Amino acid sequence: MTTLQDCIALDAADPLRELRDLFTLPQGVIYLDGNSLGPLPKAAPGRIAHAVQQEWGEGLIRSWNTAGWFELPQRLGDKIGTLVGARPGEVVATDSTSINLFKVLSAALSIAHADAPSRRTIVSERSNFPTDLYIAESLCRERGMTLRLVEADELGSAIDGRTAVLMLTHVNYRTGAMHDMRAVTAAAHAAGALVVWDLAHSAGAVEVDLHGAQADFAIGCGYKYLNGGPGAPAFVWAHPRHADRFWQPLAGWWSHAAPFAFTPDYRPAPGIARYLCGTQPILSMTALECGLDTVLAAQPHGGMQALRRKSLALTDLFIALVEERCGGQGLGLATPREHARRGSQVCLTRDEGAYAIVQALIARGVIGDFRAGRPDILRFGLTPLYLRFEDVWHAVEHLWQVLDAGEWRRDEFNRQHAVT
Ligand SMILES: *Cc1c(COP(=O)(O)O)cnc(C)c1O
Repeated sequence: MTTLQDCIALDAADPLRELRDLFTLPQGVIYLDGNSLGPLPKAAPGRIAHAVQQEWGEGLIRSWNTAGWFELPQRLGDKIGTLVGARPGEVVATDSTSINLFKVLSAALSIAHADAPSRRTIVSERSNFPTDLYIAESLCRERGMTLRLVEADELGSAIDGRTAVLMLTHVNYRTGAMHDMRAVTAAAHAAGALVVWDLAHSAGAVEVDLHGAQADFAIGCGYKYLNGGPGAPAFVWAHPRHADRFWQPLAGWWSHAAPFAFTPDYRPAPGIARYLCGTQPILSMTALECGLDTVLAAQPHGGMQALRRKSLALTDLFIALVEERCGGQGLGLATPREHARRGSQVCLTRDEGAYAIVQALIARGVIGDFRAGRPDILRFGLTPLYLRFEDVWHAVEHLWQVLDAGEWRRDEFNRQHAVT
């Protein structure tokens, strides 16, 4: 049995323990939802106030030049690049994940079509995040192509001579299962398809090496493990071998080679800058930078490698404690046990009451979330930047209490909210 004392000892020996101080975390809350919305970096309110009062209030329009507003997509993109195995100048922070997916998927389809017009299918996983599937479906309608959805274990045989693009999310949002990016990309390339990776649940959570995997395109989310704040700008990467091929479809003036030349005709910027569209939300970009800096603060302590090591230790501990303490309570495990196949979350299944159990936990200050499906999922994101082993112990203790006493059956926990 793992005891609370064991967990406290693990925290004392944790080389990343000081990073928790970078965040404002409410008293009495154990936050296991950083995979949906990262917490507030302590630096953010002051930095945003400065952007409002000085940069906007005093600097006015001048701040585009004097406060570095113009270069923010690239500056933040470079910070993100260090976390995902991209090189300087290859990533921009901009727009939302959905919008960036539309851009890269469209570019990938254009490239595939130019190289092999007979390839007319996008392949993805049926359990991919819905927005990714909807964007792919709309592009397919527009181009008269087909979206083919399969289970993860059918991907190998689903990619064939008709496949233009394989579109996958690296870490599955519902189960926390992670693809082998290098192997899947190599297999798709061998079959003549391009690969678009969604890193929404990967960037800042697991080690990613886009160049090592020879990936074609990638996008990801700013408000999850990158702690950029609600609705934070997302990011986009194109391998340099593709970045200058084709226009992306949202060819706004920020993607122009010379936006301030104000020419009536369009000329795409070289490199990843052509994946910008219009003017950036500067205050949101400012908040995103504070979030990125919390992840980069792990650099002197071993960076993503150290974060990943702790993340695996936290998820291992969570699984072990659930099995030790909550056996016989009807819980199943949706997340792979194998480290190489696991992201930074643990997803439990239960035939009955999953939503209410999550609500009862939230009432106790243990914030996870619920994802409907067959079976329903209780989802717990374990973020190594600010979670302690002790928090994992207490979270599972609360889970046991909610289940053992049937607390989740109370009416108040069985009323559905708009956002789950
Ligand atoms: C969170 C998430 C998104 C979010 O897209 P938005 O455009 O920010 O709403 C998209 N795809 C995946 C896989 C996600 O996990």
